[in-house]
Amino acid sequence: MTTSTEALVPRLRDICGAGNVITDPLELRTYECDGLTSHRSVPALVVLPATAGEVAAIVTECAAAGVPFVARGSGTGLSGGALPRQDGVLIVMSRMRAIVEIDPVSRRAVVEPGVTNLSVSKAAAPFGLFYAPDPSSQVVCSVGGNVAENSGGAHCLKHGFTVHHVTGLQIVTPSGELTWLGDGTGVTTGYDLLGAFTGSEGTLGIVTKIVVKLMPLPEVVHTLLAAYTTTSEGGRAVSDIIAAGIVPAAIEMMDALSIEAAEAAVHCNYPAGAGAVLIVELDGPASEVEAELSVVRAICEAAGATEIRAADDPAERAVIWAGRKSAFAAVGRISPSFIVQDGVVPRTSLGAVLAQIASLSEAAGIRVANVFHAGDGNLHPLVLYDDAVPGQETAAEKVSGQILDACLEAGGSITGEHGVGVDKSRYMPKMFTSADLDTMQLVRCAFDPASLCNPGKIFPTPRLCGEVPGRRRAPHPAVAAGQAEIF
Ligand SMILES: Cc1cc2nc3c(=O)[nH]c(=O)nc-3n(C[C@H](O)[C@H](O)[C@H](O)COP(=O)(O)OP(=O)(O)OC[C@H]3O[C@@H](n4cnc5c(N)ncnc54)[C@H](O)[C@@H]3O)c2cc1C
Repeated sequence: MTTSTEALVPRLRDICGAGNVITDPLELRTYECDGLTSHRSVPALVVLPATAGEVAAIVTECAAAGVPFVARGSGTGLSGGALPRQDGVLIVMSRMRAIVEIDPVSRRAVVEPGVTNLSVSKAAAPFGLFYAPDPSSQVVCSVGGNVAENSGGAHCLKHGFTVHHVTGLQIVTPSGELTWLGDGTGVTTGYDLLGAFTGSEGTLGIVTKIVVKLMPLPEVVHTLLAAYTTTSEGGRAVSDIIAAGIVPAAIEMMDALSIEAAEAAVHCNYPAGAGAVLIVELDGPASEVEAELSVVRAICEAAGATEIRAADDPAERAVIWAGRKSAFAAVGRISPSFIVQDGVVPRTSLGAVLAQIASLSEAAGIRVANVFHAGDGNLHPLVLYDDAVPGQETAAEKVSGQILDACLEAGGSITGEHGVGVDKSRYMPKMFTSADLDTMQLVRCAFDPASLCNPGKIFPTPRLCGEVPGRRRAPHPAVAAGQAEIF
């Protein structure tokens, strides 16, 4: 612990109570990483506030002492966004998990940031309503984390991302001021600061309350599973469905390797020998869904489906979804380690980029399983390796970086929903010019001129606001592989 953080301990104990300030080195290790376990850093201190007032008081103390701070929700992030600072305070929001209000008339909810995503829909269900953004981690990830990452999910194709469902945020600014962005109506006057804040990965302040829209539960939901010999056949079905003017709630695809992993983990009983499966979900008024279902079925058949299954019963639909929902974790069954990549390509380039990924995988001798939000062109290649085999991690990092290069060449993006965090800051100069990055940094500096709020994330360092590069013990595998440079 540094002198500055040590001096903070008594003051933070006064604010949150002694039991909610963690200083024990072993307990601190619990918080050393998020879902991206290849980056680890033990925080100097962890605090668990219970109210917005406590968060404001903690941040005020940090700002006065010049100590960096990082917010953490449930720690499921996959880009190292909640990676703590060794010289800083980690502010964990998990005690702030109240659903403050469900207003069925205005169709909105007010929630605290630590509440889990799925709890909001559960609380809204008795009123015939639900909260639409549904990351696959929704059982555990927090709504505060969702706001920071502008999280998506399988059903964002039709219903939109977090930013489309947040109408008000109570935040603590990096200097410790408690204030509101947006008035809860969804109408913006002046600059859209609510939009700027959503997706800012915890770098512009800390969210302490969230107003979200609730949507009416659909009258019917139909889920269709189509099996294909190749992913390119499945990709053709995706393009044809959208070209027919149909926007399903979700279109997801899994390739042979991810099907194999899911089968081993949850016995999802997908069609034997399938090279790809497509899951298409339609929701809405019964007459509309029935009409669309027959068109989608015909398109899937025309694209070469070897088998089609359909379900409208919740239990049967859950069986179809089981394989897809378990896919990330399931890959752990077939590989000791893996990288969850997140990139975006135009839907029309899906087939070509998947073919490119297959060639990269073959050339490097590194297996890649593909499971993705096909409707959005949001790929999640899972790059498999064995960290016990010398050189494999570096080779996997190299393939992972080449996949992002392929996404950019196709006119896509280095991330669709998992954020930039620490992991992808090195790729930002490949997607944006220096002038773009400096402009973004100006926004950041307007909120946080002292660079204390989650520093070292999103942007390659050093840039403005006095950010300095951190010390590295060994070259990062991406640097060793010639994929990135530190500057
Ligand atoms: C198995 C699995 C499946 C996933 N599926 C999806 C998916 O389908 N779609 C998707 O988008 N993501 C997905 N994710 C990624 C992850 O779950 C999301 O990014 C999620 O929003 C992170 O929420 P969290 O509470 O865990 O945040 P954390 O990991 O704790 O933090 C994430 C970022 O948010 C910031 N933050 C947290 N709370 C606050 C706050 N109150 N105020 C300000 N900043 C804050 C942190 O500083 C950090 O930068 C998945 C992850 C896993 C492990």
